[in-house]
Amino acid sequence: MNNRKSGSIFVSPAGAVVTLICFFLPWVKFSCATERTASGAELGGIFWLLFVAALTVLVAFLISINKKDLVHMKIITLICSGAALGLILFKYVQFSQGINTGMGTVRPQEIGLTIQFGGVGTLLGLIVMFIGGFFYGREGPAVAQMAIPLGPQPAAPCSRCGAVALQEDVYCGNCGQKLRE
Ligand SMILES: [Zn+2]
Repeated sequence: MNNRKSGSIFVSPAGAVVTLICFFLPWVKFSCATERTASGAELGGIFWLLFVAALTVLVAFLISINKKDLVHMKIITLICSGAALGLILFKYVQFSQGINTGMGTVRPQEIGLTIQFGGVGTLLGLIVMFIGGFFYGREGPAVAQMAIPLGPQPAAPCSRCGAVALQEDVYCGNCGQKLRE
């Protein structure tokens, strides 16, 4: 197993960490009487789903790597980052058509809305997460090999007493039942 291959499983969690950090950094700058910025956390509402998506990928990765079983990581990563990217796209289209305030619809250019580095970082983190999700499939066989225990393989349990038998056993070690010819 080469380094590039084993390292590729860390792409998605790295993207998740970037997303989580950038969520609390300025996303947008706008003029509303005074010039101010807002992070993803300050925008709040549905944007917390992005935070939850990144956190889910990170926690799932930590659990999976601990169990040496990355079999579910591909689907978890692709669903979470795909849904998060879809949400950003949806919100971007919605915002560009106008922001609904209590006093009518405000267009982004009217309040001098600009995207800040936190917003860019969040988007890049999610894209990295999504791309990293595709690496898990290739990683599958290598991780699967790691999971196969060395030495004798357990065979079907004894038909009489249900005791666990090894593949090379002819007689059950527990009750003496003949296991195979
Ligand atoms: Zn037995």
